[in-house]
Amino acid sequence: MADRPSRDESARLLRQRIEMGGSEIFLDSMSRDEALAMLERAAALAPSLGAASAPLPAPPPRRPSAEAVTPAPAPQRRSAAAADRGAASPPVLPDSYDELKSLALECTLCGLCESRTQVVFSDGPSNARVMVVGEAPGANEDETGVPFVGAAGKYLDLLLATVGLSRKDSVYIANVLKCRPPGNRNPSPEEIEACAPYLRKQIDLVQPEVLLAVGSFSGKLLTGDQKSALGKLRGQVHHYHGVPLVVTYHPAALLRNSNWTRAFWRDLQLLRDVIDGADGA
Ligand code: SF4
Repeated sequence: MADRPSRDESARLLRQRIEMGGSEIFLDSMSRDEALAMLERAAALAPSLGAASAPLPAPPPRRPSAEAVTPAPAPQRRSAAAADRGAASPPVLPDSYDELKSLALECTLCGLCESRTQVVFSDGPSNARVMVVGEAPGANEDETGVPFVGAAGKYLDLLLATVGLSRKDSVYIANVLKCRPPGNRNPSPEEIEACAPYLRKQIDLVQPEVLLAVGSFSGKLLTGDQKSALGKLRGQVHHYHGVPLVVTYHPAALLRNSNWTRAFWRDLQLLRDVIDGADGA
């Protein structure tokens, strides 16, 4: 087996590879824990990677963690009977983060509840400054209950580190769908309609300073632009209910087509500029 890059070299190495047009992926043999440990070290190197990679400054006292929000009255839960789906009205979503999560973990609003192993609600601190929104759980996520694990997740972690963002400390991740579509098929419009209120409520409660939508389903949902191709949505700053929003490719797509890695990285730099107060929208 080839030697792995040292932890504190990896983010710098990836950044250099992108700048040079390289695309080799070198994370396949690493566990998620190894990748996250590596990223902690990589974040410490951020100042040496240039201004665009400066680490996030310590967040000002801005608001309590969503977990600290005063619990709301008990939500109205739907019947678990699949036969009820489509007949009753959607549940009233609570203003408590914990209650929202509990509600989602028991959700039977669409047919994906029948094939999922577990609901994949989120990962990362619920008072994070950056929120990444993906598409739907895959096999690894369905198995672990954590979004963006596996090769695509590790690649996302490292790419975030190249612009000074620590997934562990600064990034909250959620998907448009909380349950895995069988065979990783695309989400249906009905499934998105059923599940999107959870995501919208997550955004309301987490109150991120900036959103990063990865992939066309999250990009179209959050921009409200259902007609434009992903390539038209990326490369600019949108806004979702006043929150700056950058749209880019899904990291799994980068693994299939490495030519998109450079564009993804430019979008991350745009995200970084927004964080640094240089919103050019
Ligand atoms: S995908 Fe969303 S709406 Fe469908 S069952 Fe899972 S949590 Fe509920």
